[in-house]
Amino acid sequence: MKTIRNIFIPFKQNELHLASIRFSDRIEDIEILLPEPVKWEEIASEEKRARFLRKIGNKVRPNGPKEFDGQFHLLIPGAIDPHVHFDTPGFEFREDFDHASLAALWGGVTTIIDMPCTSVPPVTSLTNMQIKLQALQNRAFCDYAFWGGVSGTDFSDPQSLRQNMEDLVHAGVVGFKAYLISGMEEFTDLQPEQMAQTARWTKELGVPLAVHAEDKELVTQRRRQFQKQGRNDWQAYCEARDILAEKAAVNFMHSIVKGTQSAVHIVHLSSSKGLNIVRKAQRNGLPMTAETCPHYLFFTQKDFERENIRNYLKTAPPVKFAEDREALWQGLADGSLAFVTTDHAGCDPQKEKTSTNFWQVYGGIPGVEHRVPFILSEGFLKGRLTLEQSINVLATNAAKFYRLSQKGALQRGKDADFALIDLWHPWTVKAKQMHSKGKYTPFEGVQWSARVLQTFLRGTLVTDAQTKFQTSVPLGKFIGRG
Ligand SMILES: [Zn+2]
Repeated sequence: MKTIRNIFIPFKQNELHLASIRFSDRIEDIEILLPEPVKWEEIASEEKRARFLRKIGNKVRPNGPKEFDGQFHLLIPGAIDPHVHFDTPGFEFREDFDHASLAALWGGVTTIIDMPCTSVPPVTSLTNMQIKLQALQNRAFCDYAFWGGVSGTDFSDPQSLRQNMEDLVHAGVVGFKAYLISGMEEFTDLQPEQMAQTARWTKELGVPLAVHAEDKELVTQRRRQFQKQGRNDWQAYCEARDILAEKAAVNFMHSIVKGTQSAVHIVHLSSSKGLNIVRKAQRNGLPMTAETCPHYLFFTQKDFERENIRNYLKTAPPVKFAEDREALWQGLADGSLAFVTTDHAGCDPQKEKTSTNFWQVYGGIPGVEHRVPFILSEGFLKGRLTLEQSINVLATNAAKFYRLSQKGALQRGKDADFALIDLWHPWTVKAKQMHSKGKYTPFEGVQWSARVLQTFLRGTLVTDAQTKFQTSVPLGKFIGRG
């Protein structure tokens, strides 16, 4: 049995408890040490925290290798990033599980859900899923779940497609990912009728359908036109993939949810107009949900003018405008956005981020390491979200939505997955300190006040920023939808 002492754990809204936790690979017991919760304002600065600690006095000194000293930092449940592309097996010249799952731990993330489309073969059948599981043997440092995928080419044999989906659900995938527009030859997008059929099947199978929602007609039409005019600049890219393209696609998915009652989840939502459609669906009791990512919550298209980060900021869809950014924060605060994911997708920046032709720049940000400090710094510490809301969008909501029953909360019986967070000392993001394979980020030079100090995976300390310790044992295991 192990113990971590001298920690603050989140309670309601912006209240915390001074606590200590006993754990094995699971949480055995949480001891609350003061009768009243602590208000964040009481410890919000280094001086206030010191004053508070003097007041309570009796610090218990942990002793022995099984006792950890939290040094009166914040302990949160291990975060879950439910949308990443870790690229093993297949696209490992860009990213791989060894690097990315270790980066996850450094970022306080103990569970990820990997997308089906960026591994070869894609996770579209049980056989393919087994190949991926095999490839991940001894290569995963954090726990992982899988998305299944439905690609346009699968519709050449609808009967096997339906059977494959059923097999994958039994094998524990959390849901299915499909595209209304895809840039990948290996994983093609769905025609409208194929999307409707897929939604009927995911409804039968009782799992969510996650959709990349940008309108194919609008985007390709405009892209062709721009390219004909020799326009290869970032403005052309952003105009081709504008708010209208997202709005049209989210609207289309809204009509599918209405027609099928199938649970549809919009991935990486980027616009206020898109969010409003999701809100409308939710008001009408339709099972439509959405997520957004740190880049949509921080950058706007004005940032493409900054040459040093321009290519690093490219994603599909691209970031939008200030009003969209504010609306997305509002969506997190009012619960119409379910959670924040990173859409982690890395590459070798020397090879794929240097083109002056913006169409040819690889789109994707390796962000799994930055999401927890980002949300706690830009969300909680800047007053856009409460501490409780921040934990919900980082961990708890995804655990519930994808039925990862052992994850996402500091509760007796759950896995002992923790991240210890320093909220009192600002630090500066530097790409060269990242642990992902490709080391680049549009957040270069940004200052955050929250920093991940230690991460525990099922009771084992796996990273420690103060001692620079990182585990050499890939303890990560596959977890299925419960
Ligand atoms: Zn993605």
